[in-house]
Amino acid sequence: MSAAHQSNPDRPHPDKWIKVLPEGLYVEPGGFYIDPVRPVERAVVTHGHSDHARPGNRHVLATPGTLAIMRQRMGEGVGGSLQALEYDESLRIGDVAVRLVPAGHVLGSAQVVMEHAGSRVVVSGDYKRRLDRTCAPFEPVPCDVFVTEATFGLPVFRHPPDLGEVQKLLHSMALFPERSHVVGVYALGKCQRLITLLRAAGYDRPIWLHGALEPLCRLYGSLGVELGELRPATVAAKEDLKGALVLAPPAAVADRWARRLADPVVAMASGWMRVRQRARQRGVELPLVISDHADWDELCQTLEDVGAPEVWVTHGREEALVHYATSRGIRARALALIGFEDEDSEGVTGGAAGGEAS
Ligand SMILES: [Zn+2]
Ligand SMILES: [Zn+2]
Repeated sequence: MSAAHQSNPDRPHPDKWIKVLPEGLYVEPGGFYIDPVRPVERAVVTHGHSDHARPGNRHVLATPGTLAIMRQRMGEGVGGSLQALEYDESLRIGDVAVRLVPAGHVLGSAQVVMEHAGSRVVVSGDYKRRLDRTCAPFEPVPCDVFVTEATFGLPVFRHPPDLGEVQKLLHSMALFPERSHVVGVYALGKCQRLITLLRAAGYDRPIWLHGALEPLCRLYGSLGVELGELRPATVAAKEDLKGALVLAPPAAVADRWARRLADPVVAMASGWMRVRQRARQRGVELPLVISDHADWDELCQTLEDVGAPEVWVTHGREEALVHYATSRGIRARALALIGFEDEDSEGVTGGAAGGEAS
């Protein structure tokens, strides 16, 4: 379990058996890819967001929650055989022992824990550390190499407490009882999390949903996540939506869809709302900094918690976290994985397939 063994040929360094290929991160002794960006023979998928879970793989291994999400989003195209692995169950794939451990990102999200030739490597997928009632909490696993995301890997990204952001929304609703409030949320994760945050803050009125958000809310409900009363906004009369709280995909809040609402206050729940300019670009009057990714402090804390002597940083702003890790005596490098969008960019540019769920 330590980098001191690197020179021992019986303990090949993990960079000898985990490789960055055009299809994605390849675990050679297991013959599988993690979150491949192109169809492959064997994929291990960390979670259901579209830049991680893609259709068409021959064999897919994921948690039951992630598989349920993939089935719903992709239907027939989901791939060949699907194999569920519960959290903390272990499975041997080739010469690698694989375990999935909660990542706290969205329902079903997992870190991939792999043991091979005396080393343990953990691939975090996307993760966060704060409370989320819609999924199991992130579990730090001590390891030799930790592969971390860094979507918000800059010290300026410090997400405020979620409750304060939800209070801002409730306050605005109290202030403008005649206006409807429309909040931009990603369909997978952010939508359901915002609803549970509102319920926890005592908001018990019906919440109205854009049609694109309904299927995943139903799925979450069927998997035991309590969301309270939800109503379809798309078929609602304008009069009903006066003073109502309406959730919609980010792209819909800015277009004609939202104009049918009564003088709406436009809000958006995203980690990027920290950046004023992004909020302005999108015409967001009420930015809510609510993220499903670790902020800078959570990233640094996680390096501490897993205690790995080496980290590989991917999927975002790598340089600052590499620099921070190095300053703490951790070997660190950026991993050049492609295909993972600067999440949330779709709403700005008007619809790239990849990014979501910031
Ligand atoms: Zn994600
Ligand atoms: Zn991601």
